[in-house]
Parts: sequence; C-alpha cells; structure tokens
Amino acid sequence: IAKRSGKQQYRFYDSAEGDMHDQYFKMEPLLKKAIRRQELSIVYQPQVNLNTCELHGVEALLRWNSAEIGFVSPAEFIPIAEESGLIVTIGEWVIRSACLQMKEWQQQGMRPVKVSVNVSIRQFYHTEFVDMLQAIIEETGIDPRFLELEITESIASSGDIVIGILQQLKEIGVHVSIDDFGTGYSSLRYLREFPIDCLKIDQSFMRDLTEGKKGEDIVSTIVTLAHNLDLITVAEGTETKEQVQRLKALGCDVAQGYYFSRPLPPEECLEWMKQMEKEMRTDEGSQK
Ligand code: C2E
Ligand code: MG
Ligand code: MG
Ligand code: MG
Repeated sequence: IAKRSGKQQYRFYDSAEGDMHDQYFKMEPLLKKAIRRQELSIVYQPQVNLNTCELHGVEALLRWNSAEIGFVSPAEFIPIAEESGLIVTIGEWVIRSACLQMKEWQQQGMRPVKVSVNVSIRQFYHTEFVDMLQAIIEETGIDPRFLELEITESIASSGDIVIGILQQLKEIGVHVSIDDFGTGYSSLRYLREFPIDCLKIDQSFMRDLTEGKKGEDIVSTIVTLAHNLDLITVAEGTETKEQVQRLKALGCDVAQGYYFSRPLPPEECLEWMKQMEKEMRTDEGSQK
C-alpha cells in the first residue's frame, strides 16, 4: 500500500505504526538487491571550520534510488537495513566507497579531505567490524586519520565492550564523533572515559538558536562541555547566516548544513571544495 509523491519520494499511507510491517516486507527484498543493482550512491556534505572559514571535512550520506519504488530516504531504509542485518554489508560498502572517493579526489588534484561515515549500532557491534575496517584501510591505502566514524549516543552509552572497540579504532588511527549529540538519554560519564574526538550538536538545537536565549544556552553548554574534554564541536543543520554567526560567537568549531551546502554528488562536491580553496587563496592574497 504505497504511492509515489510528486517528488518521486516513496511514501506510505500511514495508518499509524502498524504499517511498519508492510513497509518492512516490501522494502527488505528490494534493499537486499540494491548494492548488486547499483542503486545505492553516496552524497557528501561539506563541513566548514568557523574560525578559519576553511573546509573541515565532508560527511558521507547514503542514497537509495530503487528501480521499483524510486528514491527512499535513509530515515526509512536504514532502520530496515538494521533490522534485517543488511546494514553490515551496506555499511561496509559505504566505508569502502567513501575511502575510494577520498583517494579519487586526491587524484583529481584536491588536498586530502576528512570524510565522516555514519555507523549503525548493529554494524559497530558486529564481530568483524574492526577487522573489516582495517582491511579496507589497507586495501585502499588511505590515511586513517582522514576517516571519521559517526556513532550515536546510544552506542556510546551501551556498555563495556564499546570502550574496547573504541580503543582499537584509536590504535588504527581513525577518528570518532558522537552524532546527534543532546538527543539521547545517556549518562555523560562515557564522554570522559571514551577515546572520542568530536561532538556533533543535533540539528534540533539550531532551530532555537535565533529564537530566544534558551537554545543558545544549550548550544553554549555543549560547546563548553566539549572543550573541557578536549573535543571539538560540529553543529548540524545550520541553515541561516544568523545561526552561523551565533555559533561562531558561542565558540562552536565547525558547522554543516544547507547554509553552506546541501549534500552533493562526488563531482559537484569536488567542484565546491575546489572553489572554496580558491576563494581562501584569493582572500589571503588580498590581505597582503
Ligand atoms: P545524520 O547523520 O544526523 O545526518 C544529517 C542529516 O541532516 C542528513 O539527512 C542531511 O541531509 C540532513 N541535513 C544536512 N543539513 C541540513 C540542514 O541544514 N537542514 C536540515 N533540515 N537537514 C539537513 P539524510 O541524508 O536524510 O540522513 C538521515 C540519517 O540517516 C542520517 O542522519 C544518518 O543517521 C542516517 N544515515 C545516512 N547515511 C547513512 C549511512 O551510510 N549509514 C548509516 N548507518 N546511517 C546513515
Ligand atoms: Mg551523521
Ligand atoms: Mg546527526
Ligand atoms: Mg541522525
């Protein structure tokens, strides 16, 4: 029971949550074939350093354009991939593709760019996760310091084995950030104990940022907390100039969002990054 909306996005007539079942049984077999049929792709969203105005890195975001049902948003298919276990294969494909992309951009004349990849809880806890990651790094020959994994608060606060995995990741040299920070119901203890590098401030806080003091207080508290723990902060979902100015004033390190750029296909992202580097150089030149 589904239809296509005007923008080729797959939508369900949702008679409450009960349709999750239908959705699952319809999409799961299609998703299973998606890699082989080359229906998956990755778009990259730039992250900008608010102090230097330089490029900080890019986040890899998965896209699925199904032959049968058109574009499906990750918010819809990632839960199905997790539930079915397909996320292990899909997640591996995303990491390998992102590493290959990193190398390709370098071959196309770009300086090394940090790429962040989202990792699901099921993927993170898979027994071969660390070995898989190590193998991809060796196989692609990338510098692991330019690879960042985004995990959620629910992973970070989920128990003792997590710290062992994070330590192995640190030994390999990849970076780790906590995604959607501020939305989970977790203890803050893990922040001090875990070898992580960055907090990504959830986009829900951006909306409040210019609508009164409340939102500002929360963002400023997260920034202070992060800096006290030697972590950097990336603000997600920044859409307006006003938000960017507030973030800068509050000491946030990096911002990502539609204000700078939407997630872009690889070629467009390369153009965007090159343009940005060019503007940086002309700025420097004019300051002399
Ligand atoms: P996320 O990792 O928190 O990614 C940020 C989401 O916010 C992305 O949605 C991005 O397109 C969107 N976004 C960026 N800037 C703005 C803005 O200025 N305003 C607004 N309103 N939204 C903005 P997207 O691409 O639909 O992805 C949704 C979620 O799906 C991601 O949230 C992530 O949790 C998950 N996801 C995406 N790709 C992957 C993947 O390869 N693996 C896994 N495990 N999860 C993924
Ligand atoms: Mg993310
Ligand atoms: Mg997020
Ligand atoms: Mg999210």
